[in-house]
Formats: sequence, structure tokens, C-alpha cells
Amino acid sequence: MESSHQSNYKLNKTEKKSLRKQIKARHTLLRHEGIETVPYATQSLVVANGGLGNGMSRNQLLPVLEKCGLVDALLMPPNKPYSFVRYQTTEESKKAYITLNGKEIVDDLGQKIILYLNFVEKAQWKELGVQALPPGLMVVEEIISSEVETMLLESINWTEDTDNQNFQKSLKHRRVKHFGYEFYYENNNVDKDNPLPGGLPDICDSILEKWLKEGFIKHKPDQLTINQYEPGQGIPAHIDTHSAFEDEIISLSLGSEIVMDFKHPNGFTVPVMLPRRSLLVMTGEARYLWTHGITPRKFDTVQASKGHKGGIVTSDVGDLTLSKRGIRTSFTFRKVRQTPCNCSYHLVCDSQMKVTAPSFPESDKEASQLEQEYVHRVYEEIAGHFSSTRHTPWPHIVEFLKALPSGSLVADIGCGNGKYLGINKDLYMMGCDRSQNLVDICRERQFQAFVSDALAVPIRSESCDACISIAVIHHFATAERRVAALQELVRLLRPGGKALIYVWAMEQEYNKKKSKYLRESRLSQGKKEENKNDTSMQELLVEQTPDVGKRDSACSAGLNDFQMEGCNSKKLTNSRLPIHTNRTSFHSQDLLVPWHLKENSGKDKPVELSGAVVPPEQGAVFHRYYHVFCEGELEAACQTLSDVSILQSFYDQGNWCVILQKI
Ligand code: MN
Ligand code: ZN
Repeated sequence: MESSHQSNYKLNKTEKKSLRKQIKARHTLLRHEGIETVPYATQSLVVANGGLGNGMSRNQLLPVLEKCGLVDALLMPPNKPYSFVRYQTTEESKKAYITLNGKEIVDDLGQKIILYLNFVEKAQWKELGVQALPPGLMVVEEIISSEVETMLLESINWTEDTDNQNFQKSLKHRRVKHFGYEFYYENNNVDKDNPLPGGLPDICDSILEKWLKEGFIKHKPDQLTINQYEPGQGIPAHIDTHSAFEDEIISLSLGSEIVMDFKHPNGFTVPVMLPRRSLLVMTGEARYLWTHGITPRKFDTVQASKGHKGGIVTSDVGDLTLSKRGIRTSFTFRKVRQTPCNCSYHLVCDSQMKVTAPSFPESDKEASQLEQEYVHRVYEEIAGHFSSTRHTPWPHIVEFLKALPSGSLVADIGCGNGKYLGINKDLYMMGCDRSQNLVDICRERQFQAFVSDALAVPIRSESCDACISIAVIHHFATAERRVAALQELVRLLRPGGKALIYVWAMEQEYNKKKSKYLRESRLSQGKKEENKNDTSMQELLVEQTPDVGKRDSACSAGLNDFQMEGCNSKKLTNSRLPIHTNRTSFHSQDLLVPWHLKENSGKDKPVELSGAVVPPEQGAVFHRYYHVFCEGELEAACQTLSDVSILQSFYDQGNWCVILQKI
């Protein structure tokens, strides 16, 4: 038998397929990884699919390889779907080449993996930069004894009532508890004027004093966040808000080790092992500029040999394997900052960010300006991307349109990309929208549409048989303007004509009372629109922490806004509008909702305008103003209109809806 890639005996079907795959693996390795395979036998082989990146661990692969001979070295680069094996002799590597090509192995997760081997002169692959910890980062191993670890873990009372002094949040990704100050995930900040009673637990106090004395830390923290991560859970990459905390941030890892990824804004990532009972200290660049996060997964790539555990994981690729995660509990201590941050990392510093959220409008003029800047202008900019996310008509709206007598004249006020204009071909439908770009999209689709403000529609009074207003009225910034927009709809209707109105609901996702409706409409809706900007389909309490640059100016939003209680809240006055975190519950009725503009779907160049933060690598973030309606609010507004009766009032997919009829 030859050691080359061809064999001279006749191959059966399976062998042919395996050979084809092997050749394909060779090409892929060269093209994507710069790995050159050779057509003759050498001591070293590249094992495609036998990598940490596709779930193969050292413990599984090594015995398989050793069956063919003495293994000199097994190099498993992190996150790569291949590894390199070097045998002591070419005879052994030949044996491995012949017997292991196309061999199936079952990995730790129970998945079948087929190996494809090719000879290489030496083990080399494209590697990213140098291996060094981010400047300002330190991992102190064995900072506490296992007795203290047990004591700390036992001191946490996860079952405590939320009414108690320390708030426990069951975020989707992990369990969280705060001491000293509550940390608000809505704006990634703390309320400095409102410390939690009780301060930090006593047990932590003495430990912190010790660390101070021993020089591990320079400041005494006054805020503690306890996180508990089950295997498979993680935390999105983020920078702790500059304006919220001082320079030094420390995190004690208990129960189990975990790998935390540190990422420089230029994309360079350093995976750092945080062993059990170690203290992570983040200062300077590591605290202010690099993001940190934990990838949600059940295994980490770690050093195989014991000894040097803490620190960079990739320091020795000849010694990597996978390690099953356990339950890790972290105590993160921070010192709340009382003055604005003046660090030298301006691009990621919220204290130094020029963009500030607009104030709540106090006059009609201010409201109109707010709508211009944070509704009209934004829709103009995001029109293309927005339209690409709006294709599925909602069933209740379709139903309304289909039930109208044929030949009806129907106006869609705020028609967007015209997704309802062609629903019922038996109607005469016309649309209007404030955005020229959206109207252009309607026209491209051969719909009748024109640019118009919903407060002054150039259609003759009492000329329409029906009107629809879908997701429009919530963009008006005062109660008076919302009523005026409703009244304008009624003006268009002939006596007996009907209008269907949809507005975003404050109660969106967490009001259990609504789940019945939600379920009904979801069932009938079938496919749901997948879009991170689509807040009307939010999941409950999914924490989203901004990446570098993705951060918005939430920190400058009035903190007091978050103390408001649902719909009994009064209007915000003299305060900045809070910026909503998509896919979380609403904490204010008046707010800015971020739109993350996808690249290539809008402008080529990033744009900068008030309300938009332009991160270096991602699309711009735009903020749209919304007034989300409380239960009964839309109905109440409709009751103030003259000449109407309310036929129906219901909840549909995160919206409050009304069907009214002109008398
Ligand atoms: Mn953090
Ligand atoms: Zn800063």
C-alpha cells in the first residue's frame, strides 16, 4: 500500500466518499487556515474534525491516536476544528493515516465526528497576535481557602424574597443578587443616591480589608453583585459602565473555574482562565477599554496539565483540552463612582460621550421637534432596513381588511412599507407615511402612497370607508397630539366607517393576564418575524449589555425614571428620556427605543446625528421616540373623541388595539 493519497486497489462506495471528504478537508485547511498538506508520508498529520473547536477533547482523541503508535505531541489549537499529531516514526503516522481516515468518534456531547487526516511537514496555523493578558488585568490564584469559599457560598440566600433588602433577579442567563447598590440592567448603571440598606455582607467586609492590607486592591468597594452561572450560561461581552464605577473592578470566582473572554475593540480576543478561588482584578485599559464576557457553553478550552491554570488559556497549544463547566458563583466588587469618569478612553466612555438623550417635551413645539428628530428623521434613515424586517402581516389586521365590503375606500395612515396595502385586492387602498423613503418603497411596489403627517392628512373629510393606523400614534410625544392624531382618523371616516388602531403596549411581555391573547394570536400568526429591533415580540428579562461602541447614552438618562411604577406613573418632567434595552420590559412610558442599523441595508457610510452613536465596526444605532400605552389608555383617548363609538378593544402581540366607528 502506498502512503500517497491514491490507493491502487478498488475503492468501495464508502471508501470513495471518505477519500472525497479527505481531499475536501485538505483544500479547506489550505484555503482557510493556510495549512499545507503534503502528498507523501511524514511524521506529522493534521487531523481535520479532531479539534477543540468542534467539541473533541484531548482525552478522547489521544487514546485513538495512540492506538497507531507512540505520539510525540498532540497540538490542539483553541477554537479550531483540527489538531496536529506528531508520531515518533513515519511508519506510525502512516498507520494512523490509513486506519483513522474516515473513522467515526463520539464526542463528549454524544455527537458523531468523522476524522480526516493528511500529512504535513510541520504543525502550523494562522494565529492571532501575541499572547499576553490585557494591560491592567491580573488573576490572583488561591486568594481564599476552600473553607472561606464554602462559607461565602453558604452565605448566599437565593430564596430570599424580593421584598427584602437585597434584590435577586432571575435573569435568563444566570442568577443575580445585589448588595450596597442595586444595579439596573435597563441602563447598566446604579442609583447613586439610593444605596440599598445593609451595605455589603459582613463576611465580605473582613475579606476586603485583608486584600486592601495585602495590596491586591487599592480601593474599598461599596457594591457587590453575586452572579451564579450554570453550565451553558454566560454573560454578553460588555464594559462595566464608566460613569457607574471607579477604575478597579474585582471578581472572585467560587465553586468552579470558567474561561472569560477579553476583547480589544480591534477584535483581538484573549481567553482568560479564572480558576476556582481566584481573584480577577481589572484596572486601567482592561477595565475601561476591553470588553469581558462569558460565552454560554458547557465546555471550556483549558490547559490540560495542572500547575499553571490562571491566566491566558492559549499560552501552550500543545497542552489544551476541554473541561466540563460546573456551577460558578462570582462575587464582583465595585466602587460606585460619584463624579463623572475622565478616563482616556473617550470612545467608550459614557461620561465623555457627546450624545445625550433628549428631554421629555414640555410644550407642543418641543414635542414636534422631538418627533422630527427621533421619529421622522430616524425612519428616513432606517427606511430600507426597517422595510426589510416588515413583511409578515398580522392576522387580526388582515382579518379587519378582509371583512370590509369590496369597493371600500381605505386609508392606511402611517403605512410604512405598505405591507397592508395589497392585502385585499377588492379594496381601494391608499397609504401615507411621514417618511419619503418608506413612501418610495410603497410606490416601487405599485401601491398608491403619498407623504403626509398623520396630524394633517390631505384627504377630504368623511370620504373613507375605513382607516387603519398601525404602530403610529405611539410616536406622538404628548397626550394632546395623540388625541389629535386619532381625531384626524375620525375626520376621514364617513359616518358608519371604521378605524383600526394599534399602539405598543407598556405591559408588553410580562403581564400574565395577556398571555391568553398572546397565545391565541401567536398560534394564528404562524411565523414570527425575527429581528432584534422588533420589540413587540420581546422575551421576558433577557439581559442585553452593550458591547464596546454599542453602548448607548442610557447612563445619562434620568435615573429616577426607573423608580416609576408602571402605568400609575406621572409624566417625566425636566428629565431625559430613558433609552430602552431591547427585549426587556418597559420601565417608562416615554422612552427611546434603539434601532441597530444593519450594514449594507442603509447608507454605506456611518452617519452621525443626534441620537445616533456610531460604533467603529457596527452599523449606527438610531433611537426612536415611543409613548407606550398602558391598559385602557388608548380606549380612554378614543372616548374623548367626538362622533365615535368603540366597537372593540383588545390586546394583540404587544399592542393595545381599538376598532372604532364613526357615528
Ligand atoms: Mn462586568
Ligand atoms: Zn471613562
